[in-house]
Amino acid sequence: MNKGGKLIVFSAPSGSGKTTIVRHLLGIKALNLEFSVSATSRAPRGEEVHGKDYYFLTLEDFKHKMKTDAFLEWEEVYRDNFYGTLHSEVERIWAMGKNVIFDIDVVGGLRIKKKYAERTLAVFVKPPSVEELKIRLKKRKTESDEKINMRIAKASVEMATAPRFDYIIENDTLEHALAEAERLVAQHIAKPIFDDVTEEE
Ligand code: ADP
Ligand code: 5GP
Repeated sequence: MNKGGKLIVFSAPSGSGKTTIVRHLLGIKALNLEFSVSATSRAPRGEEVHGKDYYFLTLEDFKHKMKTDAFLEWEEVYRDNFYGTLHSEVERIWAMGKNVIFDIDVVGGLRIKKKYAERTLAVFVKPPSVEELKIRLKKRKTESDEKINMRIAKASVEMATAPRFDYIIENDTLEHALAEAERLVAQHIAKPIFDDVTEEE
């Protein structure tokens, strides 16, 4: 199978800055990127819109889609909060002639890399420190202290997966991280694709 565009994964512990980086890249028209809207069983937060930020599904519907193999990958990221990438989402973006960019957790990111080894660029966004991660999450004001603590607890396990990614970008200053991300993605998009499906699950 050699149809479709490139896959670009940005994964990181929550609060590392991957959403900020992905939004910046989506604004660069020459990269021809489209955001992969994930499905989730969690409730919408703030101004989040169904079909734009996530496909918000009931837990029952999410589990039905798991059983019917509708997902390229899925994960129970936090207790009772399921997240996943639908095959139909990647197909939708490829049908538009675009490259797919993902903002997903480290396990999901590595699954996509394993399945589509050659056409995938998997980037790990590393925060300067776990202390700084906590400061950024508190400043973002989107989660309760309890949820922030859950995310921080998970961060050290996630940090250990960094060497399995193609590249690590340290998000110390945003300016440096954005420039590095732009360079890596442009370089990856310029490469040809051969037959790269390495694993059928
Ligand atoms: P993630 O998507 O990984 O959870 P976000 O992109 O939402 O992370 O970033 C978390 C918070 O940190 C946001 O409020 C963002 O504006 C801020 N942030 C991102 N990068 C930096 C940086 N280099 N320096 C300081 N703050 C940053
Ligand atoms: P949030 O609740 O803050 O939107 O996301 C929580 C976590 O779920 C983040 O680490 C985010 O990257 C991850 N996530 C979002 N979509 C997906 C997905 O489709 N698959 C996986 N495995 N993780 C996802």
